[in-house]
Amino acid sequence: MAPRNVLVVGGGAAGAATAILLARAGVAVDLVEAAPDVTGSGSGITLQGNALRVFSDLGVLDDVLAHGYAFDVLGLRTPDGTVIAEFPDAKTGGDDLPATVGMPRAVMARLLLERAAAVGAKVRMATRLESVTPDGHASLSQVDGRAPLRSVSGATAQTYDLVVGADGLNSGVRSAIGIPTTPEPLGMGIWRVFTTRPASITRTDLTYGGAAYIAGYCPTGDDSIYAYLVEDAADRTGLSGDERLATMRDLAAHYGGPWTEIRERMTDAARVNYTWFTHHVVDGPWHRDRVVLAGDAAHSCPPTLAQGAAQALEDATVLADEVLRSDDLESALTAYCARRQPRAGAVVGNSVQLAHWLLAHEPPPQAGGTADVPGLMARTSALLSQRP
Ligand SMILES: Cc1cc2nc3c(=O)[nH]c(=O)nc-3n(C[C@H](O)[C@H](O)[C@H](O)COP(=O)(O)OP(=O)(O)OC[C@H]3O[C@@H](n4cnc5c(N)ncnc54)[C@H](O)[C@@H]3O)c2cc1C
Repeated sequence: MAPRNVLVVGGGAAGAATAILLARAGVAVDLVEAAPDVTGSGSGITLQGNALRVFSDLGVLDDVLAHGYAFDVLGLRTPDGTVIAEFPDAKTGGDDLPATVGMPRAVMARLLLERAAAVGAKVRMATRLESVTPDGHASLSQVDGRAPLRSVSGATAQTYDLVVGADGLNSGVRSAIGIPTTPEPLGMGIWRVFTTRPASITRTDLTYGGAAYIAGYCPTGDDSIYAYLVEDAADRTGLSGDERLATMRDLAAHYGGPWTEIRERMTDAARVNYTWFTHHVVDGPWHRDRVVLAGDAAHSCPPTLAQGAAQALEDATVLADEVLRSDDLESALTAYCARRQPRAGAVVGNSVQLAHWLLAHEPPPQAGGTADVPGLMARTSALLSQRP
């Protein structure tokens, strides 16, 4: 019998998608999200065909296309802005979907959570999981929305047939069920800015090399883009907002073409974000008894292939599929992990490989090296074109 009641911890891509699929099938779903609203989601996100295919299954594709920015071509530029290649981006979701859609993260989060509520999930913002045990006993509390989040109510407890830990990179559910894996830094950090769209930017263009390992941008709507610069990981925690803005502007000054306009539009320190690249894949089962992991809680990759959220969405599809069609929860959760671990692991491995080539300045095969970036991308696209 499918679980009658499910607690989903976390309202990101993995949690919201899982809630939609289970609630739509008639399961009573409580989704708790510690953040008070989605506005803290910041920046933009690149969503490839395999993510769009899941959005179609979830019933949010039309809204995603209406609010995002779709494109089918990827460009490569030199640091001075010269276009050196333009090629069709792989349509991993099928020919009837765009290759890529960029959109503001907050909009993606809003669309998914609204859909979850519309199909019957009980979505509770500013509500945090305080503790969980493998038998599904969970303790929840209301939190004060201001950072750092503080509990403002006594915890209430309930036992669920299934608890889905979709609580992100530093998952508390993961540690609560005794899985020791934690994300490992990769040695790279990324500056991101979310700003207005120069008219000339109608797709992603990437520059490998120059003052940063990667300089790139992605349109996220008619009026917005996000742009990013990848550098050696540095401790940026002590910088004020203005210092962060100045540091990213200095790095951006090494790039020409559309970067000149992007840099002029980089004026709001609150729109600049810095974070490190990490990676991990939970080895062995992704569940203990009635508690299972999904999304970044189970695996994370550097965004060199822009696949983290797409893999989180695929987790949700497979988890819901297995849970809804099996009479036995243990076998369903085992089957979910067996289907997802190799594929998510391959995507993490390929994303990490790309980062390692960049860190080592590894030349391409035609220059005597091993960095076959087009080959790796083609292999990844072929994998992602198959349904999970
Ligand atoms: C720099 C960078 C760029 C990226 N770019 C892309 C990209 O372009 N495309 C792409 O596909 N992926 C990208 N990713 C990866 C992507 O952001 C993640 O893989 C994706 O957001 C994971 O979704 P999730 O739902 O698993 O976790 P999250 O989105 O992290 O959601 C987890 C949620 O759980 C909540 N939570 C945590 N603890 C609790 C608790 N105790 N109680 C209640 N709620 C809790 C958090 O508040 C959070 O909202 C990027 C990642 C990084 C770091």
